[in-house]
Amino acid sequence: MPASRSALTYDVFVAPEKPFLAPPPAVGDSPAWDPTTSTLIFGARDAVLVDPLMTVPEATALADWVGLHDRNLTTIYITHPHGDHYLGLPVVLDRFPGARPMAAPATVRHMHQDTQPLDNSLRARFPGQIADTIPMPEPLERPEIQLEGSAIEVIETGRTDTLDTTSLHVPDLDLIISGDVAYNHCHMYVGDTTADGRAEWIAALDRLSALNPASVVCGHKDPTEGNPATVLAESRDYLEYYGQLRDQGLPDQQLFDAMVDRYPAWVSRQQFLILGLG
Ligand SMILES: [Zn+2]
Repeated sequence: MPASRSALTYDVFVAPEKPFLAPPPAVGDSPAWDPTTSTLIFGARDAVLVDPLMTVPEATALADWVGLHDRNLTTIYITHPHGDHYLGLPVVLDRFPGARPMAAPATVRHMHQDTQPLDNSLRARFPGQIADTIPMPEPLERPEIQLEGSAIEVIETGRTDTLDTTSLHVPDLDLIISGDVAYNHCHMYVGDTTADGRAEWIAALDRLSALNPASVVCGHKDPTEGNPATVLAESRDYLEYYGQLRDQGLPDQQLFDAMVDRYPAWVSRQQFLILGLG
């Protein structure tokens, strides 16, 4: 057994919901981005950060919080190519210049090709709050990250709330960090999905469930909730119910109201999540 192997643990930072600039929506709450998580996995000396968030203020607070853990940050992993999870990267890298930004090869390819329009639409929603230049992560050579002798496994989940997504599995902790494959009592970004896409998303949730984790940290969550594995089944149910309503051809207002009626306690009753960014 390698002498350097030590017990891992983890901690979760939740960036609170933040209002953004947009015309008043036809339905739901006034425009605000759903609460977003970043997870630190750490041993006795080293740490891996998962998803460096979006705005400069929240990434600055995240970097302060990472610093409080007093570990050597080796890696910043990006779960999927959506800017709300990685546009804060330059802020965190500035504080931890020795950390290597990494992602799965398909995620990196997608970030090089397709993310500029979405990044710029986020800059328009959060004027002056998002860095101009975002460094690209390096592609992982193998689907795992080593942390003090333990493996953190990368699970390629394909098309879920966007293309080329991943989750992480930490066997030592019976932990999954789902990225946006699962949501925790927060309305899901289903508005821009298709029936085929939702089927792939459900298959990805089933793969995560088969790992039988004790805990699941979701990319977006109600900050008052813990990190139970039940979010996997709940997210599956949400996608199936939404698909049934879409198959019925419900008008937007009725579709939105039906989702809020079914999930009255879930946070972020946002038009852009349930009906799409448009
Ligand atoms: Zn997200």
